[in-house]
Amino acid sequence: MSLTSWQERAGQLRPDGRLLIDGLRRDSTDGRTFDKRSPVDGRLLGAVARAQAADVDRAVASARAAFDDGRWSRQPPAARKKVLQKFADGLLAATDELALLETLDMGKPIRFSRSVDVPAAARCIAWYAEAIDKVYDEIAPTGPSALALITREPMGVVGAIVPWNYPMIMAAWKLGPALAAGNCVVLKPSEKSPYTAMRMAEIALEAGLPPGVFNVVPGFGHEAGEALALHPDVDAIGFTGSTRVGRRMLAYAGESNLKRVYNELGGKSAFLVFPDFDDLDRAAETAAASMYFNQGESCNAPSRLLVHEAIADDFVARVARHAPAYAPGDPLDETTVMGAVVDEGQLRTVMGYIASGREEGARCVAGGRQARADSGGYYVEPTLFDQVRSDMRIAREEIFGPVLSVIRFRDEAHAIALANDSAYGLQASVWSSHIDRAHRVARALRAGTVHVNQYDEDDITVPFGGYKQSGNGRDKSLHAFDKYTELKTTWLRINA
Ligand code: NAD
Repeated sequence: MSLTSWQERAGQLRPDGRLLIDGLRRDSTDGRTFDKRSPVDGRLLGAVARAQAADVDRAVASARAAFDDGRWSRQPPAARKKVLQKFADGLLAATDELALLETLDMGKPIRFSRSVDVPAAARCIAWYAEAIDKVYDEIAPTGPSALALITREPMGVVGAIVPWNYPMIMAAWKLGPALAAGNCVVLKPSEKSPYTAMRMAEIALEAGLPPGVFNVVPGFGHEAGEALALHPDVDAIGFTGSTRVGRRMLAYAGESNLKRVYNELGGKSAFLVFPDFDDLDRAAETAAASMYFNQGESCNAPSRLLVHEAIADDFVARVARHAPAYAPGDPLDETTVMGAVVDEGQLRTVMGYIASGREEGARCVAGGRQARADSGGYYVEPTLFDQVRSDMRIAREEIFGPVLSVIRFRDEAHAIALANDSAYGLQASVWSSHIDRAHRVARALRAGTVHVNQYDEDDITVPFGGYKQSGNGRDKSLHAFDKYTELKTTWLRINA
């Protein structure tokens, strides 16, 4: 579609910002709303319900009633599968509408919200749908006078609190396994990207998901988010967001009912390039592409580029040559590969980190400036810093913007020490043509995912999550069922 066609569609959009509880759209109890503006050009998208504790109470009560009467939890797995497959099909059928909402809400290019976000969210729901009637329980190897069944049961009411960088995908990573396993969900989307969550819930209802099974409470973290995480009738929280708020999640559980808390948090992933790698240009291109994708607003962005000192000058020059290809453009133009950062606050944060990199003595070799300011939106050039030391803020803190820091290493041991010198441990990448080195380094890296000679592969079939302060538990793959199910042992006596 042309830029003008997308702009026309955007102009006609009147998104519904009301809550969705018990299968119905409704205003918040006290009628409060907040204005949602687009980072694309600053336009007002609409007023969104600002859920408070009373609304969260209603949503949790609805989910609890739905869970307890078994309208979903006691349906056979094959029946839940059918509904969730229809839900996934419904998401795909609404691709253009959902992609446009996502792009306007949080600024990513329309080509990626259409080709990545909507299909990945749909595939996630479909994958868990297809899995749920293929997972078996266990029988323990006990003696002849007993039978011990080890079964998995749904947790009950799951609170899902998600960020704005991949709003639909992050929601789907919670919804897929939680709903397939038979739970009921209350989803709290980010206040910066609330719209697609409500449309997802409507599409789920149309697919036959019973009312009350999937509720959405848009609003702010310290209001709706806190009320959900503190709620005594929520059994588990699936949280994706910052490490700062992840700490709060653990405290909320401690202060309330010790609900299970699964945190998927920040990252400062290292990308290690050894001089023996035989295709440095592919490595440089991948570093730039992985870092600048989604405006650098990816938890797993390889934001620390660790390069051997013998090849560093050459390698930095190669990455710098690729950077301009990611210059920000209008997110509604299908040729644009980098869009707007999510809001003015995020723009200020990113520009503040760029200033701190310069102040601390790093050398800015590409980008470094705000872009497209006359659009009324928030854009940052793809930025590359060389001569970064690992004690600088741009090397230690998650920037969540298009800023890549190059740190030089002397040898393998130094590279591993630098890579692991981080509070985070989400992902890492090793580039070496030496098979022993690749394996040795991959084993030594303290990260939930290690890539070897690539950074792009990803699939719903593999677990996603981090070591250290990048979180606990894992999203995706069959392992995600561990988060949303309880293990039950049932002993039966068998008389001889
Ligand atoms: P954030 O922590 O500010 O917010 C995440 C969610 O928590 C939002 O819905 C927000 O409203 C809510 N929230 C904020 N304060 C809260 C509080 N006091 N109580 C309850 N809820 C609260 O994070 P963000 O800025 O939306 O997202 C960016 C972060 O998410 C980055 O750190 C990124 O690395 C991380 N992330 C991690 C993964 C992963 O899988 N590990 C994936 C995507 C994003």
